[in-house]
Amino acid sequence: MTRLHEATIAAIATPPGLGGIGIIRISGPQALTILKQIFVPKNQQASFISHRLYYGWIKKSAADQLVDEVLAVYMRAPYTYTREDVVEIHAHGSFAALRQILDLVQNAGARLAEPGEFTKTAFLNGRLDLTQAEAVIELLQAKTSEGLQTAVNQLQGGLHHQVQKLCDALLEIKALVEVAIDFPDEEFEVLQPEVLRDKMGRVINVLENLISAADHGKIFKEGLSAVIIGRPNVGKSSLLNALLKEDRAIVTPIPGTTRDTIEEYLDIKGMPVRIIDTAGIRDAKGEEVEEIGIMRSKTKLHEADLVILLLDSSMPLQEEDAQLFCAAHEKALLLVANKTDIRRQDFMAECRQAFPGAEITAVSAINGSGIDRLEDAIFTKVTGRNTTWDPGYATIPNIRHRAALVKAVEAGRSFTGGLTTDLSPDLLAIDLQTALDYLGDIVGYTTNDDVLDKIFGEFCLGK
Ligand code: GDP
Repeated sequence: MTRLHEATIAAIATPPGLGGIGIIRISGPQALTILKQIFVPKNQQASFISHRLYYGWIKKSAADQLVDEVLAVYMRAPYTYTREDVVEIHAHGSFAALRQILDLVQNAGARLAEPGEFTKTAFLNGRLDLTQAEAVIELLQAKTSEGLQTAVNQLQGGLHHQVQKLCDALLEIKALVEVAIDFPDEEFEVLQPEVLRDKMGRVINVLENLISAADHGKIFKEGLSAVIIGRPNVGKSSLLNALLKEDRAIVTPIPGTTRDTIEEYLDIKGMPVRIIDTAGIRDAKGEEVEEIGIMRSKTKLHEADLVILLLDSSMPLQEEDAQLFCAAHEKALLLVANKTDIRRQDFMAECRQAFPGAEITAVSAINGSGIDRLEDAIFTKVTGRNTTWDPGYATIPNIRHRAALVKAVEAGRSFTGGLTTDLSPDLLAIDLQTALDYLGDIVGYTTNDDVLDKIFGEFCLGK
């Protein structure tokens, strides 16, 4: 499985928008020839030593018209990201300049890369296994330092090595079973069910630990969504600001200035939490339209993994508070009493009566008191633990890996069951091969093209 070596691919590798520099990436056998056609180094004698930066200009060859002042680097295969010849042109960040340079690169013989094609090439050329390629996406999308760390561990081959060790253990078992296939008359002496059961038991144990790491770690990798619901003016936008610890949402005492819906990520003890704020709609007089606000809260809460129902402790509980509580009670729900700086004395007692058994966190979104306790409450509610996160494993398998691990466990158990019922060695070997194939899918030895297309299709252009 290798990429066709004739093709040289190119793309803008930096995101669109204004930036100090923008990078064009070229990979393939024509990379250096293309660079020489469009780049004029300041030192005309430059011999393009590998991995060295050259200063110069990109020019339109026909008219000798200069396009941009750039730094260019040629990296000779195989010591490159794709294991092919690679060229990078570091230009000024404007989209117009990058677009023109990319046009020149294409006219000189490169084809536009598909999303993820550089990383796919690195995978097909054996530089990365599939878990490492997936780690590149996770690295690009990491929202917290914990998420970043697990992606880096996976990129360094953390999961790959664990899967490899499991494959080795399964191959060892398979070798023992195959001896029994080759020497059927001596089957009893060769096939020692206790030894095999013991070895498979250890494999299944590691597989199950990985599955459990996937379950516990998922939320740290993918994050969760939380919604703040509540009546108009209870302080939803103020709470969002307090959680963000900066004034990103617009909040003023004058109604009409709250944006419709705001989404931001919070880092709560390493967990990326996307907060959906459900600010109400205001009418022409600037009054928040209560009914629409409540309706919107109700709609939004279905999209969320966690619901934060905000109450205003400076006034008595209202009918709408109870309505929202009823609408949300089947979700993971946190009750939060806001405005404790001006709290009515009886408020907490009223809450306990109205919402028996519910845990209530008191905060003041304005002066920040109780916000740390609220973060702890969110963490505990979602993870079921109140300590900070310790994955126990260097890497967290993703959904795709998890599905394959579960199938490998099933095959492993089927093998152990077969040992008990004296299944023939040929059939035992089939279970072992099935488990090996599922593990092979994780690292990309046996993964089919559709799955590969789906994985690399998630990448951005130029990666
Ligand atoms: P929303 O309509 O639920 O988004 O409410 P806002 O966040 O816009 O807040 C409504 C009003 O309550 C504003 O005047 C805020 O300054 C005020 N407010 C919000 N939180 C607190 C708080 O903790 N204490 C006090 N005293 N006022 C608050």
